[in-house]
Amino acid sequence: MNRDVFSSFTAEIRYLENASDHCSFKLGGKLEYLICPKTTAELCECLKVLTNNLIPFKVIGNMSNILPEDGINRGVFLTTKYIAEKIALHGTRVTVSSGTCLSEVCRYAVEHSLSGLERLIGIPGTIGGAVFNNAGAFGQSISDTLESLLVFINGKLVSKPAGFADLSYRHSAFKNNGAIIISATFNLKPLQMQTIKQSMKEAALKRISTQPQAPSAGSVFKKHTEGAAGMLIQNAGLKGTIYKGAQISDIHANFIINLGTASADSVKYLVNLAQSEVYKKFNIKLEREIEYLGETYECTSRLPYSQQI
Ligand SMILES: Cc1cc2nc3c(=O)[nH]c(=O)nc-3n(C[C@H](O)[C@H](O)[C@H](O)COP(=O)(O)OP(=O)(O)OC[C@H]3O[C@@H](n4cnc5c(N)ncnc54)[C@H](O)[C@@H]3O)c2cc1C
Repeated sequence: MNRDVFSSFTAEIRYLENASDHCSFKLGGKLEYLICPKTTAELCECLKVLTNNLIPFKVIGNMSNILPEDGINRGVFLTTKYIAEKIALHGTRVTVSSGTCLSEVCRYAVEHSLSGLERLIGIPGTIGGAVFNNAGAFGQSISDTLESLLVFINGKLVSKPAGFADLSYRHSAFKNNGAIIISATFNLKPLQMQTIKQSMKEAALKRISTQPQAPSAGSVFKKHTEGAAGMLIQNAGLKGTIYKGAQISDIHANFIINLGTASADSVKYLVNLAQSEVYKKFNIKLEREIEYLGETYECTSRLPYSQQI
């Protein structure tokens, strides 16, 4: 890769950054190049230069749904999490840049007596990651209130209606089209602040009382029509299983936690174990919700945008 391209960036570029400092699992090897724009303008400048030079890259947020590899995660990673831009409010519409923490937006909405995001409090992702995965919890999801998006696609910034994202359960069109989410606008509903606060408090309490607090990437597997993944794993007798510093949580079996010394490989071992045992016992194939960085990097933005869409 021609590193000269980086010389035109105003954004900070870090080399061989510890993945554990950036992912919620707190493990993994190194991220080869990590570009850290601090404004949307810097982000767009990086996107344009990388795209024009046909350099493959992967945009990341808080890495709260990603398992990095143990060795060097080769390539260029572009994090949005250092972009600190003000949330904009127009009536009931809230516009947020992609690197903003989802929980910050939930709190902002509540402070403005706007309902629709309050039960998402505690999801540790950015807005970009939340839209990408159509994050949801306790009966509420991003798709309920997302109205429009600003995306980087075919080398250009374009406004798109929410329909462009084609959101469904933990799915979006972004998983296939390589477009980058720059900002999102939600149209929320005015409601008494006390009522929204109460709903947010209940969601936060439910989260704390049912989920482990150790480093993880949240639910490992998607819900299955035959039952909750956690229950299936528990019924397969795997709750609490430990392997080389990683554990199938004894609080919630759909979480794999890092006990302090886990590697990406030990997490993968438990993921495979859960999948194979549930299949053996119940003939059910569990589908992974968490992303393996090694698998997805290659397919994201590998081609110039004009060839992807
Ligand atoms: C303790 C815990 C609890 C959790 N609870 C929930 C929950 O209740 N519900 C739920 O849905 N999830 C949950 N998660 C999973 C995770 O927080 C969400 O999926 C979150 O939305 C991921 O956001 P992120 O910024 O961390 O994305 P990352 O993990 O950094 O990235 C996820 C994907 O989004 C892509 N992406 C990120 N930003 C952009 C962008 N700007 N443009 C295009 N693509 C982008 C990345 O390339 C990657 O493919 C939980 C995770 C943890 C650790």
